[in-house]
Amino acid sequence: MRYRGTVYRPPSEAGSLVIQATFGCPHNHCAFCGMYRGTSFARRPLAEIVEDLDAALTIFGPGLRTIFLADGNTACLPTATLVAIAGAARARFPELARITMYGSAKFLAAKSLEEWRQIAAAGITRIHSGLESGDAVTLAELGKGVDPAGAARAFGHVMAAGIELSVYIMVGVAGLERWREHAEGSARVLNLASPDFVRLRTFVPVPGTPWCERWQRGELTLLDPYQALVEVRRLVELIAGPTTLLSDHLSNFLDVRGRLPENRGAMLTAIDDALGWPRERFRPPTGELVGLAL
Ligand code: SF4
Repeated sequence: MRYRGTVYRPPSEAGSLVIQATFGCPHNHCAFCGMYRGTSFARRPLAEIVEDLDAALTIFGPGLRTIFLADGNTACLPTATLVAIAGAARARFPELARITMYGSAKFLAAKSLEEWRQIAAAGITRIHSGLESGDAVTLAELGKGVDPAGAARAFGHVMAAGIELSVYIMVGVAGLERWREHAEGSARVLNLASPDFVRLRTFVPVPGTPWCERWQRGELTLLDPYQALVEVRRLVELIAGPTTLLSDHLSNFLDVRGRLPENRGAMLTAIDDALGWPRERFRPPTGELVGLAL
């Protein structure tokens, strides 16, 4: 397999074969994101992708179970291309249980329900989508390129097609200034189209990004652990489900996880318990993590 630049994948894809179907991100404008800032977006030729699949077949044999199609927004590829990639993968690896890719809501929204059905039928089974916030003001200022209603509609199409969906919410991204609107707006979107998984990441400023500069100018206040937990608490209170909420990232102050609505009570109890902890029991302040490439 050949790789270009830094390759990112969700933690849950740690055991997957990673194939770059695109390079970089076609959007590259989210105010907090530095992942692909120095990378020009390009679609990888289908022939090259198939060559990598052939190389993987030679190295690993036909029993491969999971593939992740990098980079940042592979969902932007034309439907026919995604169908062809999935078909080529499944022809070589008949035991594949999962083909996953990233797709932010802006690109999910660009395809119709019928197109998502074709992609699902071809064998792409899971999408990870960074919404970050369902608050309209925050979403617009972050430059995600989609509004809450558009995001909810796109999520609905992906799930109606039978594709498993993980949606990422970024705790603290709206700062102390809009934490409540951020939590409540996010819950609203997640309740309009309840994804299979809600995954929490806590905002850590990335140097050189507009959202970091906003913090450095004093226009965005980072949440301390107690404020972050109050925000997560509001989210847990409001998400109707059915969904599974996970905090599967070391940026978070507390590993809050469980099924909603079934485990809501236990999750709130765990948060309330942690709200009584001394400061030293939590990870270092977010300001001290800046530049650590979390
Ligand atoms: S869509 Fe994703 S990868 Fe692209 S700039 Fe936004 S957060 Fe970064």
